Amino acid sequence: MYRIGNGIDFHKLEINPERPLVLGGILCESEFALVGHSDADIILHAICDAVLGALALGDIGQYFPDTDPNLKNIDSKKILSQCLELMNKRGFQFVNVDCTVIGERPKIAPLKNQITNSLSALLSLPADCVSVKATTTEKMGALGRQEGIGTFCTILLERRS
Ligand SMILES: [Zn+2]
Repeated sequence: MYRIGNGIDFHKLEINPERPLVLGGILCESEFALVGHSDADIILHAICDAVLGALALGDIGQYFPDTDPNLKNIDSKKILSQCLELMNKRGFQFVNVDCTVIGERPKIAPLKNQITNSLSALLSLPADCVSVKATTTEKMGALGRQEGIGTFCTILLERRS
């Protein structure tokens, strides 16, 4: 039995060398940072929402509200591992994961392999089942003005035999 899920996440972008930029669980060398209550890892957040969506378990904000002081600057790997626990408990595993990061900056291409390998490890999934893509909005709108970046994620889950 298969379940499909999609997740979308956006965060504001700022120039802040003091705040780490975390994408797909890796620390990126960048002058840019994402603004958020947690570490603002848009890729992991989109994956979490896709997992919850596939299993009709609600959304990430329900489990991890951005008003909870205990979640301030939380490592999104912790959020992901709790979502994976919910998935495991229900007897599901990943078939594949496909993520698209949307924005002008930072450039994803040089980070793509590192992010893919990180997701492969975090999701216990072979790298050829993890897709990390990037696109821009051709400078249109808020993302085009580099006010933020977003990630769309689609996943397929299957019930473990
Ligand atoms: Zn988020």
